[in-house]
Amino acid sequence: MAYRAGRHFLQIPGPSPVPDRISRAIDAAVIDHRGPDFADLGLSVLSGMQRIFKTKSPVVIYPSSGTGAWEACLSNVLEAGDQVLFYETGQFATLWKQMADRLGIETEFLAGDWRNGVDANRIEERLRQDSNHLIKAVCCVHHETSCGITSDIASVRKAIDVTGHPALLLVDSISGLASVDYEHDKWGADVTVSGSQKGLMMPPGLGFNALSDRAIEAAKKGGSKRSYWDWQEMLASNATGYFPYTPATTLLYGLKEAIAMLEEEGLDNVFARHQRLADACREAVSVWGLETVCQNPKEHSNVLTGIMIPEGHDADAVRKIILERFDMSLGTGLGKLKGKAFRIGHLGDFNELTLMGTLSGVEMGLGLAGVPHKAGGVEAAMQVLMR
Ligand SMILES: *Cc1c(COP(=O)(O)O)cnc(C)c1O
Repeated sequence: MAYRAGRHFLQIPGPSPVPDRISRAIDAAVIDHRGPDFADLGLSVLSGMQRIFKTKSPVVIYPSSGTGAWEACLSNVLEAGDQVLFYETGQFATLWKQMADRLGIETEFLAGDWRNGVDANRIEERLRQDSNHLIKAVCCVHHETSCGITSDIASVRKAIDVTGHPALLLVDSISGLASVDYEHDKWGADVTVSGSQKGLMMPPGLGFNALSDRAIEAAKKGGSKRSYWDWQEMLASNATGYFPYTPATTLLYGLKEAIAMLEEEGLDNVFARHQRLADACREAVSVWGLETVCQNPKEHSNVLTGIMIPEGHDADAVRKIILERFDMSLGTGLGKLKGKAFRIGHLGDFNELTLMGTLSGVEMGLGLAGVPHKAGGVEAAMQVLMR
């Protein structure tokens, strides 16, 4: 491949660009993971992740993608034959449900339209019908990356509690964590699943399960046959800062730096920055005269913006032109949105001028691809940022 000057714009909603500070932290000698120096690193990242998830309960760290952390979550608290309620927010909810199907779990899918988030009333209604409490867990995606929709997880917990139903609440916040507010304890999640390559600004390769007392109890009493994913041995080793098997040592160096960076900026400031940049991005989309995938303004994503492409045009053709001409990667339409939508990632290590570069590339790409739109989106976003 010929050299391309300047930086590639990796504006897909994960992996997000890795800041130099994190790359440099990762570029260090591997140490003995059973040696005396390792415990400091282990304890530091384990307690740091508790602060990021906003939980007093343990967080388990796997050398895995987010998908592995999904499986860890399901296999620790559920077994084949258990009934579980999933909510169809988009492609990631669909994939998580398919994984549960493969594990022999009896899944039920509350159908969604991929343009709106979780309606907790429907979960409440379904749990009320389950008077024998056969449903063991409710699974929801906090931030649906395929559509750019943020769901209200606290409302799901309320819906479970108001019915007096004992179902566990299992949440995927793989792309929400560290970009938009997430409160594992306050919102009453039993397990929250996450990954390293989105808001945490890390390369892919670490998966997380934040736990609750109830989840730990459920795992002790049951769950599937499991070994690698089992929480018990992990928690026992983690107590002193160690891991039961070789951890991804260099990625843990990076994670320690990522946590330090998030805390230097302050999580609330991180969330406010994502909000501001997302507002400016949405303003551009609105001036272009295009629709966001998300239809409910209260559920708009501050992590990415999904944009519908008018009928008769191919979203992937627009992405292709933008990649070839301007060296920027944008997120493809996934599943039901294939060809119909593309996604601008604005998460992680991202600022005003990165946004402006990104939006300029998109506006030029829309023009070159012949997608009907009004000019002036970039200008409108600048106005928002100057406020
Ligand atoms: C990225 C993502 C996943 C999948 O994570 P991998 O690391 O690709 O396995 C799952 N759910 C959501 C919401 C995601 O954004």
